Amino acid sequence: MAVKFFNTLSRKLELFKPISDGEVGIYSCGPTVYDFAHIGNFRAYVCADLLKRYLKYCGFRVRHVMNITDVDDKTIKNSKLQKMKLKDYTDKFTDAFFEDLGKLGIVPADVFPRATETIPEMVEIISVLLDKGFAYKGDDGSVYYNVRKFEDYGKLAHINVDELKVGARVKQDEYEKEQAQDFALWKAWDESDGDVFWETKLGKGRPGWHIECSAMSMKFLAEQIDIHTGGIDLVFPHHQNEIAQSEAYSGKSPFVRYWIHNEYLQVEGKKMSKSLGNFYTLRDLLKKGYNPKAVRYLLLSTHYRTQLNFTFDGLAAADAAVKKINDFVVSLKNLDSGAVFNEKVPRVCDVAKKEFDKAMDDDLNITVGLAALFELMRDINILVSENKVSNDNRDDVLKLIYMFDSVLGVVDRDDLVLSVEVKALVGEREKARASKDWKKADVIRDKLLGFGIVVEDSPRGPVCKRK
Ligand SMILES: [Zn+2]
Repeated sequence: MAVKFFNTLSRKLELFKPISDGEVGIYSCGPTVYDFAHIGNFRAYVCADLLKRYLKYCGFRVRHVMNITDVDDKTIKNSKLQKMKLKDYTDKFTDAFFEDLGKLGIVPADVFPRATETIPEMVEIISVLLDKGFAYKGDDGSVYYNVRKFEDYGKLAHINVDELKVGARVKQDEYEKEQAQDFALWKAWDESDGDVFWETKLGKGRPGWHIECSAMSMKFLAEQIDIHTGGIDLVFPHHQNEIAQSEAYSGKSPFVRYWIHNEYLQVEGKKMSKSLGNFYTLRDLLKKGYNPKAVRYLLLSTHYRTQLNFTFDGLAAADAAVKKINDFVVSLKNLDSGAVFNEKVPRVCDVAKKEFDKAMDDDLNITVGLAALFELMRDINILVSENKVSNDNRDDVLKLIYMFDSVLGVVDRDDLVLSVEVKALVGEREKARASKDWKKADVIRDKLLGFGIVVEDSPRGPVCKRK
């Protein structure tokens, strides 16, 4: 196994070696639930999903944590505009986010901690930072991080703190590189916060955005973690600040071994923005009738470190590619040939697997990985048309396609994710059929219909489909 990733910290391709053999901890910056997530956000989540699925494919045990930012400047501002309680407001968009993840076939994280449920841990970290002299209290009672106290501040983003303005501070969560100054860890309550505050030993207030991720990653993973993912827009200040907070608190370095960032997404060659009319949430695209699997395919089929130009032509091409893969799987499943075992098929499969693995090992080179899959499909289609694929060959090819798809997540697998009850019923029906108890078999078939499952009998046994 020789997986390599491009590490933002070193700006180099590095061989991946987790802290504990065979186990990987991944932290991904999740959504700020102040609105529906847009396709640029989903590019980051699909990239993290591809990474996680590939590590699992390689045999690693993966623990994945993705936070939900449910208190920050934006959530407070928008909930007030809507005259809603912060929790009611953020719950609505958290639910929507989970629904969207499901539609895109993104494997859920093991934990989705919410910032509002991790306040005591944040307060504790900030208190230690105050004790250690990395943080100080401002005149209004807010607590700021003193970036000059942290030796390597600016390292991740490759900026030189000394070239920046001296002595300035920022209280808002988002700011630009030129403003790399002391940032707020704890924001003392003011009127604009309304009823959003916590009474703590730091005073009445709320956390800054950056401390949230330090607290949640350390609580749900460890003080030092293997991989941290996010969009490239988060490198500065967010991830730089996470490093400064976490390392100063724990005294351990590095906080994260591999920083993996995905590039921006543009729409039709332009920056996505509401004013240009090219701003899309996943919901917008699904409302237009697009297949979520095509959206997923489009988001993952460009290498994660390349800017992705999202176009509707590209989406149509992605839809065609997903259909081609699924048509191939369905036609192969229905193949029942009298051909004898063809020694050429295992060789074709072997080449495809080696090419796919080699490409994905190389910093998730998905373009080459997908090419290996399409070549395999082409070669097998030729052999099928010549009636040179036996039933055993067919099963081997299907097995490989499903292996690849454990990484890609675009094959329609409705019939493969049956619940235990349904599987038991299908087995019972087969027994009834074997003993020619047609009446019982029909009763069970109706029961299965009640579960929304249609059973069709094929020469290879029962095939289950959704009603
Ligand atoms: Zn974060």
